[in-house]
Amino acid sequence: MMSSRIDNATRKKIYARDGWRCALCDGTNGLQIHHYIKRSLGGTNTPHNLVTLCSACHSHVHGFPLYETYITPEDIEQAICEYLSDMYAPNWNPYRKGAHPLE
Ligand SMILES: [Zn+2]
Ligand SMILES: [Zn+2]
Repeated sequence: MMSSRIDNATRKKIYARDGWRCALCDGTNGLQIHHYIKRSLGGTNTPHNLVTLCSACHSHVHGFPLYETYITPEDIEQAICEYLSDMYAPNWNPYRKGAHPLE
């Protein structure tokens, strides 16, 4: 299983796809790439599993909110899920029972 870091070409491709903005809040501060499915759970570096987040949203989804909010990390996961499935459906369908969303 590949679990290497994201190479620069892929990184640029994801930023460009997402318009050099956070997929959640449209912020441009400290852009980072987030794995929807964690690498430790088998998530890969395919675009289907990667999303651009600003540093605040990225910390938040990992459980370290940088600001006071009622939004939970689960809400953010859900928003990312919808963002990616809007982009890649029907090839990306986390709701299909038993399916791995990256297949
Ligand atoms: Zn953000
Ligand atoms: Zn992340």
